[in-house]
Amino acid sequence: MEQLMEGNKRFVEDSPAAWSRTDARQQTLGGQKPIAAVIICSDSRVSPEIIFDQPIGSLFVIRNAGAILNNNTKQSILFAVHQLKINVIVVVGHEKCGVVSMVAKKYMPVVTVTQGQVFKALRELEGDEENDSEEIEDKLHFVDRTVKCHAQRSAALIALLFHPDRRPKIVPLYYSLSSGRVTELKPFKGNPSQQQQAKRRWWPF
Ligand SMILES: [Zn+2]
Repeated sequence: MEQLMEGNKRFVEDSPAAWSRTDARQQTLGGQKPIAAVIICSDSRVSPEIIFDQPIGSLFVIRNAGAILNNNTKQSILFAVHQLKINVIVVVGHEKCGVVSMVAKKYMPVVTVTQGQVFKALRELEGDEENDSEEIEDKLHFVDRTVKCHAQRSAALIALLFHPDRRPKIVPLYYSLSSGRVTELKPFKGNPSQQQQAKRRWWPF
């Protein structure tokens, strides 16, 4: 986790670490030992190796539009943890996410599971006491909060895939396009029974 945050600091400061791409490629010929699995949107502005300033072989990346949890995501997470022995998973939401924005604005040529997960995040946000109606009026701010809630929920859902004693560290993060900075989000606030329901609904595979 520290390596990721230090890498992001280098990215923000525009002082990337120097490494030989040829060396990095050759060093990983015998196998990969990534330091973390990264679940992140396909958005072309959020390339994880760049925003975390990491060489090849460092990140096991699971990407799709909106960073949605589905069967492929699940199998990839299980492979990362059981086969590659990765013990850190980060779920990265990002500023101005087009997919979340489309769903939030009820314009949704996106797959059903995407709508479902983002809508759930929206509903939880609407029930959030910290949320006031003025903020909801501010569309950009609203989309942003939905992105964060979606990342927090996803991290909580991923945790359900593992026995509490053998669970990797799972951290929801937020990436700001404008500053380039990655920040850690608080854990999801939902109670365990909500999480169980969510598990039945979104891990039906
Ligand atoms: Zn996105």
